[in-house]
Amino acid sequence: MRKQIAAANWKMNLTFQQGEKLLDDVLAAKIRLSPDQLAIFAVPFPYLLMTRSEVAEETNYEVSAQNCYHKKSGAFTGEVSAEMLHSIAVNYCVIGHSERREYFNETNAMLADKVNLCLENEIIPIFCCGEPLNIREAGTQNDYVAVQLKESLFHLPADKVKDIIIAYEPIWAIGTGKTATTAQAQEMHAHLRSVLAAQYGSQTAGQISILYGGSVKANNAKELFSSPDVDGGLVGGASLVASEFIEIIRSLKS
Ligand code: PEP
Repeated sequence: MRKQIAAANWKMNLTFQQGEKLLDDVLAAKIRLSPDQLAIFAVPFPYLLMTRSEVAEETNYEVSAQNCYHKKSGAFTGEVSAEMLHSIAVNYCVIGHSERREYFNETNAMLADKVNLCLENEIIPIFCCGEPLNIREAGTQNDYVAVQLKESLFHLPADKVKDIIIAYEPIWAIGTGKTATTAQAQEMHAHLRSVLAAQYGSQTAGQISILYGGSVKANNAKELFSSPDVDGGLVGGASLVASEFIEIIRSLKS
């Protein structure tokens, strides 16, 4: 089975102490993950080492950065490189979240560079894609997300792309309380997998975990994750509440 993944995206929330307490509370639930399941915490940069040591004794609990810079190194004050993340044993990084695309003008080409730098540094990108509301209303969401994959990922060979985690996050569902229906999520995930299959073959496409993101909560996770092509979720708001995220982890297919 492909990996089933519950990924928490804390964004720019929580103090260090609040983050530590949240991790303690989630880990206190002692959810045993199977070899096919992962729980990932994408935390702010200053909390990466603390989070790494919190999950150090746990099996299949991982830490992720929320971003890295699209250049290798140099005079880019305030930025963090993939190599720096690798040097503190961070093995995952969210790439191309819609908030970064929107507020920091990240383009598909820049994201291709970030993906390359992550892979060069043994970091698995959690690559986000998804359409804004006007594209959904125009009914052109399938083409829109296919271009996002093509321009940021399709330069990679199959043996690299197979390790990437994709998160489909319709922008109209992020932080809005408006969730894609289970049918909408499944339809888009199947489409993404078919786009990957057309480029890389169905065997490679079948290995790639595709997460759904957009107002996933404890009370809708099980149903969303039950679809055959939905391999878990990338979770913002609900990942800040221990009881919610615990339930979301428990909702993963096993
Ligand atoms: C996200 O930020 O990736 C996200 C999906 O947020 P939320 O769960 O709050 O909609």
